[in-house]
Amino acid sequence: MRKPLMAGNWKMNKTIPEAVAMVKELKGKIADVKDVDVLLCPVFTALYPVANEVKGSNINIGAQDLFWEAKGAFTGEVAPNMITDAGCSFVIIGHSERRQYFGETNETVNKKIKAALSSGLIPVVCVGETLKEREDNVTFKVIESQVREGIKDLSKEEAAKVVIAYEPVWAIGTGKTATPDQAQEVHAFIRKVYGEMYGDVAEGTRILYGGSVKPSNVSELMKKEDIDGGLVGGASLKAEDFEALVKYGK
Ligand code: PEP
Repeated sequence: MRKPLMAGNWKMNKTIPEAVAMVKELKGKIADVKDVDVLLCPVFTALYPVANEVKGSNINIGAQDLFWEAKGAFTGEVAPNMITDAGCSFVIIGHSERRQYFGETNETVNKKIKAALSSGLIPVVCVGETLKEREDNVTFKVIESQVREGIKDLSKEEAAKVVIAYEPVWAIGTGKTATPDQAQEVHAFIRKVYGEMYGDVAEGTRILYGGSVKPSNVSELMKKEDIDGGLVGGASLKAEDFEALVKYGK
């Protein structure tokens, strides 16, 4: 049985007071939720205050990126142990916005996953095709190389900790959601590929869907066999919307 995970990616939104105010409101609203894991990923500057605010609650905190080196002359970067130090237990890796605007590749994604795991962080690894790739019928080829190259060379124990997020680029922040069937088809494919890489580990791997998930479409998506949660941008920014997502089954 895979426990669902509902994750909010706040992207470059919210000052420290705004971030803390939202988690203060949210933690009361979802305090009784036990059957879904909850994760919020604020901007770097808000990680520590937000992590302090949610201490003892059922909300986990993650960063939106990391660098693979432990310390040194890497201006602007943040090391894995600094992220755990700020109170995080998760980290998003390879989000399509980072691949698109900041030159992330499957190779850098792989280095970051390994660095995250060696510091005890759970990586949420994003994969997904662009609209052009979908129209050119290369979706499965693209996803397969992102999974095989991005998440390669782990021990089975490490591979079991990884969370994968399928985020079709054409559905992120566009209001266009993949249909539950479209998403399920890719999720099942990802599980098959991950199974070829790491055997029975894949059965327990949580595969999240991301791309305009909102309170009105979450329960249809979550009914699908291989969809184990959501990675949510826009609809994670308001406490009441995110509460509805976390409580999708109620
Ligand atoms: C995301 O940020 O990963 C995302 C899926 O955004 P949105 O929910 O706004 O499409």
